[in-house]
Amino acid sequence: MSTCPDAAERGKTLDHQENTNRKRILVVEDNPMNLMLLHQLLKAHGYEILQTPEGWEAIDLARNKQPDLILMDIRLPDISGLDVTRLLKQDDQTKAIPIIAVTAFAMPGDEKRALEAGCAAYIAKPIILDNLLRAIESILSSSLPAANSPQ
Ligand code: MN
Repeated sequence: MSTCPDAAERGKTLDHQENTNRKRILVVEDNPMNLMLLHQLLKAHGYEILQTPEGWEAIDLARNKQPDLILMDIRLPDISGLDVTRLLKQDDQTKAIPIIAVTAFAMPGDEKRALEAGCAAYIAKPIILDNLLRAIESILSSSLPAANSPQ
């Protein structure tokens, strides 16, 4: 029986520590509606969100803010998400950050190209939210040095 107040307190402290260690996700998406939806979804799941609609700004944010993961739209106005991925993977400061490619109008070969550019995973739009969250959680937990299995 753990009606012991100490145990309850310890539980709280652990939860609190998990909250302060929350993972930071950079969302690169030029469609304002998609960006808003992703932002709200990820925030509701406890992630800290950085966002930009532009590829070059994504590179600056990745270097300066060191997100734990990047969700990368492939079709961006200034530079393709695949080129952004290649640049990030060539840079020692950002090459370890896992990237999930997200694309509309998926064509045969898109997934292969995304993985060859250095993406850790590929998700076609329309995004199935459960699948996206599962991919994020799986990549984040596999990139931890010691599996701390949160829940
Ligand atoms: Mn786009």
